[in-house]
Amino acid sequence: MLNSKIVKEKQAILKQLFMLFDKFSDEMERACKEGCSACCTRNVTLTSLEAKYILDDLNTYQKDAVLTRIANEHNKKRLIPKTTINELAKLCMNGEEIPEEFADPLWGKCPLLLNQRCMIYDLRPFACRSMISKKRCNITGFAEMDEYMVTLSNVFMQYIEHIDRGCYFGNLSDILLLEGDKEKHGLSIPYENFVVNKPLKMLMIPPEHRDRIAKVINVVQTIRIG
Ligand code: SF4
Repeated sequence: MLNSKIVKEKQAILKQLFMLFDKFSDEMERACKEGCSACCTRNVTLTSLEAKYILDDLNTYQKDAVLTRIANEHNKKRLIPKTTINELAKLCMNGEEIPEEFADPLWGKCPLLLNQRCMIYDLRPFACRSMISKKRCNITGFAEMDEYMVTLSNVFMQYIEHIDRGCYFGNLSDILLLEGDKEKHGLSIPYENFVVNKPLKMLMIPPEHRDRIAKVINVVQTIRIG
């Protein structure tokens, strides 16, 4: 268990990474608009650090509203990740088999979507921040991300996992209940629903994006990632 000073330091780094990502992604073409929620499905994943960042900023009433909504829908199907992005980078580097993951948007909407609005918008996980589509998803039915945007997102996701290494990654519903008050809702979440976050060994950057992303990495490395 990390002490609260270390958690606060890691949350401050996470906030800086979110701000940097917003800055660098601002120049990208985007069709996303307020009230557009087609990509808000039950399949969002996040690290335990992001979950703590969300829960620590909510007041008692907001936290209870969030956890109750999640608990009420907790028996519904959702993506349970088998690996993390840093583990995936290692498997690719070693030419090993990538575990198959399946997520269907038809399994339903994110439990935190209320009247087409996110209940935790300013605190939302990185997976939600980085879902930036060139086309309106509510028209096409799916998000269409620029290839460079995918690389940019992966790089930030790898750094976020690195600062939370040794802790957990999982579905939004499972991680928020784990970090919140699952006892209150009488839920037990199987250990198999989580994977352990790994340190960053190699960034996943295709050759065609290396020059463009170099300035981003230079700025990110000025943060004390650890
Ligand atoms: S957390 Fe918010 S932004 Fe992310 S999927 Fe749920 S409702 Fe959408």
